[in-house]
Amino acid sequence: MSRFFSEKYKALAPYVPGEQPKDMRYIKLNTNESPFAPPKSVVKAVKEQAGKCNLYSDPTCSALVEKASQVFNVKKTQILPTNGSDEVLNFAFMAFCDKNTPAVFADITYGFYSVFAELNGVPYKTIPLKEDFTIDYREYCGVNATVFIANPNAPTGIALSKAEIEEILRSNPNNVVVIDEAYVDFGGESCVDLINKYDNLLVTQTFSKSRSLAGARLGFGFACESLIADLNAIKYSTNPYNVNRMTMEAGRIALCEQAYFDKKCQEICQTRAYTTAELRRLGFTVLSSKTNFLFVKSPKISGQELYERLKAKGVLVRHFNGERIKEFNRVTIGTKKQMDIFLSCVEEIVKEKQNEKSE
Ligand code: PMP
Repeated sequence: MSRFFSEKYKALAPYVPGEQPKDMRYIKLNTNESPFAPPKSVVKAVKEQAGKCNLYSDPTCSALVEKASQVFNVKKTQILPTNGSDEVLNFAFMAFCDKNTPAVFADITYGFYSVFAELNGVPYKTIPLKEDFTIDYREYCGVNATVFIANPNAPTGIALSKAEIEEILRSNPNNVVVIDEAYVDFGGESCVDLINKYDNLLVTQTFSKSRSLAGARLGFGFACESLIADLNAIKYSTNPYNVNRMTMEAGRIALCEQAYFDKKCQEICQTRAYTTAELRRLGFTVLSSKTNFLFVKSPKISGQELYERLKAKGVLVRHFNGERIKEFNRVTIGTKKQMDIFLSCVEEIVKEKQNEKSE
């Protein structure tokens, strides 16, 4: 830290993204990306836009917003495209929280929420997940705070129903409720259509998971017109050109390729069911997931050790040190072939561990 760093950020503990080591070729199951490349039409669109990079991108993202309004069946004024959904989440902390309006979220959820709160000087409270890692929606009712819920939640993969989210919305009429739907396309129930019913709802989605565009950085906020206007005030006060022209067109074309992505999501869900069954056969605890990842725990080997041994064999998964979850690993669902390699490495490790014990 330099001696010039602002006092207000000195205690900030930045978000730690999943590792991207370059020392060998890994099977990457640690950052919940799609294992599938985007369709060719998307790649072509990016190339075409690259030749026009001397010009700024459209700050209103009008072509992308037009297409999104058709696909999601909302008004153009109810959409805000952002640089990944991380950006709209940060904007929400800036726009809808302050000293008098704290944020509230689960103790085990997306790690960026607490970082955004710290960054923006927002007080926050966490609500512990239940013993079985589910969220009890009643604990979010009438909380007098801005609510942030990842639905399905990460890293657990467990989802709340739309009816439960509606209860939270109804009981907090004077606070914004942010529903982060980063993983909704893998089996969750989307709340996007509820933006016409609740003026306190902001739904965020991303192109990073089900739409194979993590490296392009594109997300959406969906909300009633006045909430989107607030978020736009933040956007135009930080970075009006927050979505670059290649990403904007990649996103627009991706929205024209719904059938391709639906098929890929189905494939992920099938591979998820297969991987869940295989891990359970090996004695693992596997939380029931509505996402493109599994949260898993072995009775025989610690979370940290399994992570390390898998890495040594060329398979990267995500391990978190939090007290309640340190025996777990989060495993992204890759292709069937990748998951077979992962599973055979797990089986090998479990056997090695047994042999070491009996020696
Ligand atoms: N929300 C959740 C729950 C996530 O896991 C992620 C991905 N790390 C994001 C939001 C942000 O994704 P992106 O910025 O790539 O859209």
